[in-house]
Amino acid sequence: MMIELTITCPFCGKMHSVLVREADYNRFVTGEYLVQDVFPYLNATEREALITGMCPACQSSIFGEEPDEDWDEEDLEDGDLEDVLQAAMARAGWAGF
Ligand SMILES: [Zn+2]
Repeated sequence: MMIELTITCPFCGKMHSVLVREADYNRFVTGEYLVQDVFPYLNATEREALITGMCPACQSSIFGEEPDEDWDEEDLEDGDLEDVLQAAMARAGWAGF
């Protein structure tokens, strides 16, 4: 049977709920299983809600403002490489100091 888990969001304090199979929930609370293994039918937002308690609205306001599309791959690669090199040089400098 399905049970409705009611969760209070730690960020906004709103109540929200996730429907799961009772047997799965019983496995989940043992802490021995990964949430994605126990609830393969839940979407990422629902799993996050079970792990952190965050409601969908808070999740999207925190995680949702930087979708993958925002990453400009070319700029990221150039910038990243430079950062990595500079960081490596800085570490080497410190190490040799
Ligand atoms: Zn919230």
